[in-house]
Amino acid sequence: MTDIKSMTLEELTDWFGERGQPAFRARQVFRWLYRGVSSFKEMSDLPKGLRQELEESCFITRPVVARKQCSSLDGTIKYLWQLGDGNCIETVLMHYKHGNTVCISSQVGCRMGCAFCASTIAGKVRDLTPAEMVDQVLFTQLDSGEPVSNIVLMGIGEPLDNFETVLQFLRLVNHPQGLNIGMRHISLSTCGLVEKIDKLAQCGLQLTLSVSLHAPDDETRSKIMPVNRSVGVEKLMEACRRYFQLTGRRISYEYAMIDGVNDADWQADLLADLLKGTPGHVNLIPLNQVEESPLKPSRRVAAFQKRLEGHGVTVTVRRKLGGDIDASCGQLRRKAMKGYRM
Ligand code: SAH
Repeated sequence: MTDIKSMTLEELTDWFGERGQPAFRARQVFRWLYRGVSSFKEMSDLPKGLRQELEESCFITRPVVARKQCSSLDGTIKYLWQLGDGNCIETVLMHYKHGNTVCISSQVGCRMGCAFCASTIAGKVRDLTPAEMVDQVLFTQLDSGEPVSNIVLMGIGEPLDNFETVLQFLRLVNHPQGLNIGMRHISLSTCGLVEKIDKLAQCGLQLTLSVSLHAPDDETRSKIMPVNRSVGVEKLMEACRRYFQLTGRRISYEYAMIDGVNDADWQADLLADLLKGTPGHVNLIPLNQVEESPLKPSRRVAAFQKRLEGHGVTVTVRRKLGGDIDASCGQLRRKAMKGYRM
């Protein structure tokens, strides 16, 4: 069976061509898919025979809302979607002044093993498909009735560990007849897979790359992020510099503030040193406490910010949204996995 929503319009046109169908049929089907239909029967402007044929050879993905939580503090909505095979993933809709933003997942679980992150506790189950990534944006819009203008790939999973799928997803959401969301409205966050950062740089996309740095020294970073044990901070920063040189896009460095682990003044000084000569900015994230983890939120966020600013580094502190609904990704899925009643 063909996963029809994972195809670009161009691929769909070729696919139809091979079956003796004109290009406009592909455009019709593509349009229906992005209206959120889940069966070929609903595609009322297609001949009956073709609908039948498609029904027999293709499937249309459609996630089901397994859980939906709305924050009473700021209107953030968190979805737990159940996929076709029963696995669950999370998507968060946030309201910012610059537009509605969805934070989407790229894998079911994650194999990166970061010590502070809820998504990785039970490892990776599987990669998502391009259609399953598109669906998170599409059905969040349809269910909430709110148009989405920005996408961040900061949900469950490591996007660069599912590289080809993520690229296909970007082509699909970027397409004028797809979701029509511009690359400059998309951010991709990575724990720092160096080879993949180089590969992404070659694509020359205008998206924003966020690098989850979380520590400026190898000892600390390797302790909390196993990915650092094979390729250390220096090599990662070299890749970031190459990325900037090739794409001209400033990198945003994510830094979750953990009590007594990465929040000392000397670490702020070292971080400022690392960023010298690489235009970019630091986004400090107040740690979301994960039940299974002994790590605690830092009480030094403001002091750390000031110290960095003293070195001329541009720093923002991430506003906490959806604090009352487990909106930091991975937490809702964890609770559902453990059979919590929510
Ligand atoms: N795998 C990607 C994207 C997913 S996580 C990455 O590592 O970047 C999105 C961001 O949330 C990352 O910066 C991640 O390190 C951070 N994060 C994960 N768990 C967190 C927690 N408990 N508190 C604060 N930030 C967290």
